[in-house]
Amino acid sequence: MKRTKIKELLKTAPVGTEVVVKGWVRTKRGNKSIVFIALNDGSTINNIQVVVDAASFDESLLKDITTGACIAVTGNLVESQGQGQNVEINAGTIELYGKSDAETYPLQKKGHSMEFMREIAHLRFRTNTFGAVFRIRHAMAFAIHKYFNDKGFFYLHTPIITGSDAEGAGEMFHVTTMDLKSIPKNEDGSVDYKNDFFGRETNLTVSGQLEGELGALSLGDIYTFGPTFRAENSNTPRHLAEFWMIEPEMAFYDLKDNMDLAEEFVKYLISYALENCREDLDFLNNMIDKGLIDRLNFVLKNDFVRISYTEAVEILTASGKKWEFQVGWGRDLQAEHERYLVEEHFNRPVILTDYPKAIKAFYMKQNDDNNTVRAMDVLFPGIGEIIGGSQREENYDKLIARIREMKMPEKDLWWYLDTRKFGTAPHSGFGLGFERLILFVTGMSNIRDVIPFPRTPKNAEF
Ligand code: ATP
Ligand code: MN
Repeated sequence: MKRTKIKELLKTAPVGTEVVVKGWVRTKRGNKSIVFIALNDGSTINNIQVVVDAASFDESLLKDITTGACIAVTGNLVESQGQGQNVEINAGTIELYGKSDAETYPLQKKGHSMEFMREIAHLRFRTNTFGAVFRIRHAMAFAIHKYFNDKGFFYLHTPIITGSDAEGAGEMFHVTTMDLKSIPKNEDGSVDYKNDFFGRETNLTVSGQLEGELGALSLGDIYTFGPTFRAENSNTPRHLAEFWMIEPEMAFYDLKDNMDLAEEFVKYLISYALENCREDLDFLNNMIDKGLIDRLNFVLKNDFVRISYTEAVEILTASGKKWEFQVGWGRDLQAEHERYLVEEHFNRPVILTDYPKAIKAFYMKQNDDNNTVRAMDVLFPGIGEIIGGSQREENYDKLIARIREMKMPEKDLWWYLDTRKFGTAPHSGFGLGFERLILFVTGMSNIRDVIPFPRTPKNAEF
């Protein structure tokens, strides 16, 4: 007989039929004559209750069915006598796939700390919380592809190993096959990459944007969705060394179009979660963050505030707050400033535009004031920056002048500059940090808990 997933079984509830379920034991209780097993197979947060008439089973088999064990149950689906579930299975036969050592199984007790869960990241999927988080993570990845596909965007795979160090400057992971014990050097003492695998210096990508622009300036609308690596030593609840980023890039979009897309896109993802992940969200709302669902609905219903960086600095200065990091025109905003704007002053998501050019990347479109660029950062409650983007500089002369001013490696960027030589076009794009989105949608508070296997400084277990 074919196995039915528990999600399907609870939805269709074919009472009176024989079914097969397979899964891991969450709890077992009962007495000498009757045993109740809560079984979960990961398809849903809900368990199915298996009712076992102890007299009809081998005593040693029942003894081996402990928390964490894996079993297959064949039996009749019946309406439940007890509270807490509509249907349950009267066990006919039970096959034990894998015993679990009750003494050493780490997930016995309830209420383990998140820190402890990270140490057992290989088993934390088996908890309600992480099951919910990773089902939602999947749903969001799917919704991202659906959103862009429905809008006629093309999914472009940009390289993970890149030859350009144009973006990251010092925050990149090197990629090499050289023997680290004897690295060949040039006469001036610099590393000789001639005989390295690619015959040149290479790194893991910090962003697919530059390559994404190449695609957009021909395919029209593209997006990337892939892993991104930053060797920054930021030990915060919002930074990973390996994270996933979604980077749409659109020909003929100006900054306003870019902001409109960003707002529509995140709202689409939030409403997708509310419609398709309701049980998992309800669980997280009860157990992790009581304000979660209200906050998701609030963001959906309200327009994002759109103000310039300069206006934001004025608001922060006028607030009379004591800041840890100084506020002043020309200084980058810190998390405390972003969160004040979003959580206290406006009390809703904020898009900041037109930042000082000195604190933004070389490729952002220069404003006529010669001081600011057409950047946009989307700031979210509890998160801070969730999206960073801009209209791109499409003018060859302005772009090359900026590259020289910032002493960027001009000759490594020849292919990027070519797009501005041959049929340049106004265009825009942004990057959404996938894990920051998942933090917001799940109400989890540490980014290490929304990616299956986090990579952070001094941590690459599993
Ligand atoms: P932050 O100031 O928070 O470090 P950033 O300015 O470095 O962000 P961008 O380079 O604009 O960020 O990257 C685009 C998006 O990628 C950010 O808005 C954020 O959502 C996400 N992101 C950036 N760095 C990280 C990281 N180390 N871990 C997880 N997500 C990140
Ligand atoms: Mn950063």
